[in-house]
Amino acid sequence: MDNKSVGSIRTTTQKKRDFIKNQNECYLCGNHLSIHVEYISFTRFVVERAQCGHCMTLVRVQNHSVQ
Ligand SMILES: [Zn+2]
Repeated sequence: MDNKSVGSIRTTTQKKRDFIKNQNECYLCGNHLSIHVEYISFTRFVVERAQCGHCMTLVRVQNHSVQ
């Protein structure tokens, strides 16, 4: 089995390593993303914002419902 590390997470397949890389690196410059998570109590959503610390591109904004 192929075990390699991405950051501090050990993965077993290239597909999993590619997913983690895509979630954590800027698609424009390849630098590491800063991920901020905020809970909005009146909407009961968690808002996730991923922004590149180098080129400042806002790469991802996702709302996650909290049940
Ligand atoms: Zn960037």
